[in-house]
Amino acid sequence: MNAITGEKEIFVKSHSPNGLLVEFSICLKNIPGALAEVSSLLAKMGVNILSGFMNFKPGEEKGRWAFVADLKDLDVSAEDILKRLKELSSVSDADFIQAKYNSLIIDEMHFPLLVMGSNSLLFKVDSWADMASHLLQCFGTGGAVILYEMGLKAGEAHAKDVIKEGFSGKVAFDVILSERIALGWGIPKVINFDEKNVEGLISVQGLFECIPFKGKCKDGKSHFFRGYLVGVLKQLFGKKVKVEEVECVAKGEQNCLFKLG
Ligand SMILES: [Zn+2]
Repeated sequence: MNAITGEKEIFVKSHSPNGLLVEFSICLKNIPGALAEVSSLLAKMGVNILSGFMNFKPGEEKGRWAFVADLKDLDVSAEDILKRLKELSSVSDADFIQAKYNSLIIDEMHFPLLVMGSNSLLFKVDSWADMASHLLQCFGTGGAVILYEMGLKAGEAHAKDVIKEGFSGKVAFDVILSERIALGWGIPKVINFDEKNVEGLISVQGLFECIPFKGKCKDGKSHFFRGYLVGVLKQLFGKKVKVEEVECVAKGEQNCLFKLG
């Protein structure tokens, strides 16, 4: 695995009380030079492109580029920019929204939110921590079981999806662990793994379940991810193994460490 090079922010909103924020959403041909054509027009008009997202998939004819721009101090209006954008040969369609509530742009132009092609929603790590803590407070070990069982089902369901994509066994396991990085769950690392006996050790740096409680707890905090691993392993290797969190960042250790089998 390569080193982590930086953070990734999913664009939701942008606030600039002294700015003139506009969000553009452009449907573009999926061909070389399409982005360059748009960005060079914007550069000529003095438009600075801020946060946004791009969605271009291999083999698809069209994709989308959406971004926020601050038009303050420019002598072009959003309407002018839109008109010019629509004249470009690589642009199929385009639209924009203006900021409201004192220059607040919330991305209301795009729904649903897709992650790996599926309708998805995002949780803040702190929101998860509040919800999980509340469950544990209300139901004690029963709360831990609920989280574990949720993880188990999520792991089974996702392993089935990855198998459908054509991956199996240890490769599928690697794919699922690597995806956790892209999804913001943490940075898993296989220390050792015996595919035949479904045994091994996995460490996870910055695990979402445990990192909010760093150094504050006597016991390990991972219930959901522990269950998730059980579900994934069961689906990929046909064996329900025990997964134990033997070290945890919540207990003051550097990473969370899971013993499989
Ligand atoms: Zn942990």
